[in-house]
Amino acid sequence: MKKLIILFVVILLSFCVFVGYFILPANIPHTDKITDFSRIEQEIISEEIHVEKIQEIKDALNQAKKSWTKVSIAGGRFSGGGHIMTKYGMMIDMSGFNKILDYIPESQLITVESWIRWREIQEHIQADNLAIWVMQSSSIFTVWGSMSSNIHGRDARLWTIVDSIESFRLLWADGKVINVSREENSELFSLVIWGYGLFGVITDVTIRLVPDENYKRYTIALTKENYARYLEKNIIDNDNIGLHFWRLSFAPWDKFLKEFFVTNYEKINEKDLNISVDKKIENEKNVLRNRFFFNLSREFNWARNLRWFLQKKFTDNINSTQYVSRNNAMNPPIEFISYYSEKDTDILQEYYIPVENFSEFIDDLWKILSENNVNLLSLTTRYVPKNTEIFLDYNPVDMVAVVLYFNVWLSDSEQENVKSYIQEIITSTDIHGWRYYLTYQNYANKELLMKNYWEFSDFLDLKKKYDPQELFSNKFYETYSK
Ligand SMILES: Cc1cc2nc3c(=O)[nH]c(=O)nc-3n(C[C@H](O)[C@H](O)[C@H](O)COP(=O)(O)OP(=O)(O)OC[C@H]3O[C@@H](n4cnc5c(N)ncnc54)[C@H](O)[C@@H]3O)c2cc1C
Repeated sequence: MKKLIILFVVILLSFCVFVGYFILPANIPHTDKITDFSRIEQEIISEEIHVEKIQEIKDALNQAKKSWTKVSIAGGRFSGGGHIMTKYGMMIDMSGFNKILDYIPESQLITVESWIRWREIQEHIQADNLAIWVMQSSSIFTVWGSMSSNIHGRDARLWTIVDSIESFRLLWADGKVINVSREENSELFSLVIWGYGLFGVITDVTIRLVPDENYKRYTIALTKENYARYLEKNIIDNDNIGLHFWRLSFAPWDKFLKEFFVTNYEKINEKDLNISVDKKIENEKNVLRNRFFFNLSREFNWARNLRWFLQKKFTDNINSTQYVSRNNAMNPPIEFISYYSEKDTDILQEYYIPVENFSEFIDDLWKILSENNVNLLSLTTRYVPKNTEIFLDYNPVDMVAVVLYFNVWLSDSEQENVKSYIQEIITSTDIHGWRYYLTYQNYANKELLMKNYWEFSDFLDLKKKYDPQELFSNKFYETYSK
């Protein structure tokens, strides 16, 4: 009996340790270096200055100019290529700029300070039945961090965030504050959005809102060969589809990139269906449970298989339908992916492929990821229609954005390996006239970047025209401007 009790206690303790290991977020140790979401880029800076007023930004810029120090700007710190830091530079922490300055529900316009996060705007406008027009698939990011990265969302009717921007105010290196819009200082409008803080500090921005539509969410299975046709027939120019994305199987072995599920959010009229959609913005649920399965899948192939199975069974079940508001659909769970380990980290990569080349790209991707045994944790796509309003656009033609989320080792040798296969993917994007997203790690060399973005040298010239002393800088800029 005594032996049985001891055995039971040992099993129970082992179970608790096992579950605890995979559920609890690890403590992030203190370091003198500034880093971002994926911790690939790290840097010692000279000073971090927290600002709450325009005069404080002006003072900080004057101080930097006097000491010949470069200045970078930090939003939510989710970009991945050192876009918020520069070696021995000054970092302006904008988190004090988080207020709503003006809001007119009738005209569907809101003016906010640049650091405010989408979630805070959603909470403010939800009572007036309004929603954000374009944002990432999560509400944790800051407004200007998003605009500086020219982000796109899941609304297939819209290009990128530029669609929703009316105007903004830019504080220049010389301390002047200017208005920027499509009519006023229009060249800067096309440069500062997706300008990574290289042209000045944005203090506030006016964005356009849309009604908080109600959606029916459903999932269908599809083959990759049929996706382009499906898009054309059912999604593009279909005003009834509010949001749309496509998920590919990240499960290893025979299922790897072989199963495909499209999820649509189709507009509904509550009265016709005799249902009521809860408009209150939800908090993330089941964080510990989801973190447990996600953590397991970082470690074990069988767990990636299990997660894909659960995904199909519960989240994207082709036999189930849910009703959800636009605000809540644009607020999916994200906290459960937060992760810290000394030895590995998660990174994102994103590639833009003309719709007609999409299936071919997935074949290339399958080959490169399989050969390199990449620990893929998710792969989704969005449709991004053509737009050329931004100087460095990534959608000069109608594109499918392919978003990869994976876990990589941090050791130097493994990072060299990651660099090599990412360069292989980017080379394949270049061959086919595709593009990659500049907001993540600087794995591409300058030659690859210039081939992907042939307007980049003009971008550098314009940067020097507006900021001749190169006061505003960051690691991304320093990697590719020399
Ligand atoms: C888990 C995850 C999911 C993501 N999903 C998506 C997605 O669905 N779609 C998508 O398009 N992207 C996505 N991204 C990328 C993300 O949108 C960008 O990294 C974005 O920049 C994050 O915003 P941030 O507030 O963290 O900005 P930061 O990383 O802090 O800053 C980004 C850039 O903005 C500049 N900046 C910040 N504030 C100012 C200011 N006031 N004035 C001037 N410049 C400023 C910074 O200097 C920096 O160059 C995702 C990233 C992660 C980590």
